[in-house]
Amino acid sequence: MTYVPFNKPYATGAELGYLEQAIAGGHLSGNGPFTRRCNAWLERRTSVAAALLTHSGTAALEMAAILAEIGPGDEVIMPSFTFVSTANAFVLRGAVPVFVDVRADTLNLDERVLEAAITERTRAVVPVHYAGVGCEMNVISALAARHGLLVIEDAAHGLGASWRGRPLGSLGHMAALSFHETKNVSCGEGGALLLSEHDRLRSAEVVHEKGTDRCRFLRGEVDKYTWEGIGSSYPPSEINAAFLWAQLEAAERINAERMRVWERYHEALAPLESGGLLRRPVVPPECAHNAHMYYVLVPDGRRDAFIEELDRREVNAVFHYVPLHSSPAGLRYGRASGELAVTDDLSGRLVRLPLWVGMDDVQVEHVVASVTEALERVPAGA
Ligand SMILES: *Cc1c(COP(=O)(O)O)cnc(C)c1O
Repeated sequence: MTYVPFNKPYATGAELGYLEQAIAGGHLSGNGPFTRRCNAWLERRTSVAAALLTHSGTAALEMAAILAEIGPGDEVIMPSFTFVSTANAFVLRGAVPVFVDVRADTLNLDERVLEAAITERTRAVVPVHYAGVGCEMNVISALAARHGLLVIEDAAHGLGASWRGRPLGSLGHMAALSFHETKNVSCGEGGALLLSEHDRLRSAEVVHEKGTDRCRFLRGEVDKYTWEGIGSSYPPSEINAAFLWAQLEAAERINAERMRVWERYHEALAPLESGGLLRRPVVPPECAHNAHMYYVLVPDGRRDAFIEELDRREVNAVFHYVPLHSSPAGLRYGRASGELAVTDDLSGRLVRLPLWVGMDDVQVEHVVASVTEALERVPAGA
């Protein structure tokens, strides 16, 4: 058996043709024809008022923090079990990330502990749709509305997934998508900011284009462009947008291919769950996920030995987020609200299995067999 990598970037085959088109078109900086196509596609597919491509998901979160006018001393509630960029984007504005626990079933922000974390300084809440499984948005949005908070979705995992039939990324005021190499649809490094309301578009365009009204100038709405506010350089080049366009066109097929592997894992690992050897992902009935990730939760203390056993069988499985609330920067810039017992427990037991487009049946079955063998071998409570 040859090595099964955790991830393998997928190319649809159309990327090079679009890159040639971009080169021939003579527009390689940002906000050109491929970017416009990608934005329009995202607006249509996620039913949002506006989408703006960015050079990363991190950049989209930073834009959201600027647009939310988050400033020093403001508090932003988020799960501790997330990627560093969720917190960094707000810390860069001088805000304090307030970390709350996640639900044991979905590993999403626990809406039941949200209200206790709200203070008079709270400005926003950032639900992270872990593994493309939607958060409990009814409760989160209702609490946010009652307390006058913005909802900024970290939908980095979520393109193509929905919650109660509504696309992830369209459920809050703003949302960030990611097209990093490890995400379902990718251009190496890339992202998008989604806006659910048209009102914020004009300010978003200014933040996106170095704090200027260059977008209006390019549309011929003003005869020169000028510095209007704070901003930075957030557009990806047309080279990235051209690559991304090939992937967006194939997005449905990509997600369907991933779903095939996901379903196979889920079915094959059911007996191990019944035997109490691991726990599989939980997808509530209101969530249509996008097969972004397949993870298992192994008994406490067994994770590292389990990963080693898999590695010995040429299977590259990996753990995921190290909780932010107890990280050096989390302790310096943020604070925890309440006990984060579920976060501390599950983050130490989670292992992600290889999942990429192009995995063949032999590889999938090898991973399944290796998981079974590895669990039999790792000592309990080691
Ligand atoms: C991937 C990811 C991001 C953004 O990542 P980029 O690499 O900057 O595109 C943000 N939040 C979460 C939860 C992610 O998984």
